[in-house]
Amino acid sequence: MSTEGKIIVIVAPSGTGKSTLIKKLKVAFPILEESISDTTRPIREGEEYGVNYFYISKEEFEANLEKQAYLEWAKVHGNYYGTSIRFVEKGLSEGKVLLFDLDVQGCDSIKKAFPQAKIVFIEPPSLEELEKRLRGRGTETEDIIKLRISNARKELERKQDYDYLVLNDDIDSAYDKLHEVFSEIIKG
Ligand code: ADP
Ligand code: 5GP
Repeated sequence: MSTEGKIIVIVAPSGTGKSTLIKKLKVAFPILEESISDTTRPIREGEEYGVNYFYISKEEFEANLEKQAYLEWAKVHGNYYGTSIRFVEKGLSEGKVLLFDLDVQGCDSIKKAFPQAKIVFIEPPSLEELEKRLRGRGTETEDIIKLRISNARKELERKQDYDYLVLNDDIDSAYDKLHEVFSEIIKG
């Protein structure tokens, strides 16, 4: 597989603010090509098919697995998520800067396949604040919020394992720091 392009992966416990920050970063850096994953999780209010994810059934996902369509895939918070191998091959061969929003398992797979990939972990100020943000977003049921918070504890144990660590306490400071990090990666 060609590796001429660049890969940036963002990882953060659910509710930290990564979608909010990615949205702003994509405006500041139009060069970024965001990978749109397949998922079996239900679509949330405000999301769009083909923009946030390709929402598919468990059967379709399993058929894609058989066809080896995914560069990496994982079961996260009870649903399947997968990265299209074709998107990555095409983007890298065209020299693009590819942006991924993955869980810790996905990060590990990407780093193994592409050691040059840069991984940015975004950290919430506390688990209490994370829970507040997840609840405030109002897109998940109580059970799912509990599951995501419990997974957050495990994900936070990995926060030192990556290339960059950014705290999202104040959104503007987090964005400024990420802007610096992205400028460095894109230029480098
Ligand atoms: P993620 O994509 O990491 O699951 P979101 O971007 O959906 O998280 O953010 C979760 C919620 O927290 C949203 O309602 C968002 O507006 C809010 N949020 C994000 N960053 C901050 C911040 N720094 N301070 C307070 N609320 C925030
Ligand atoms: P959400 O349901 O909140 O959109 O995402 C849940 C988690 O799945 C997040 O940690 C997100 O980064 C991760 N995720 C999204 N797409 C993929 C993917 O294609 N592969 C992997 N491994 N994780 C993904």
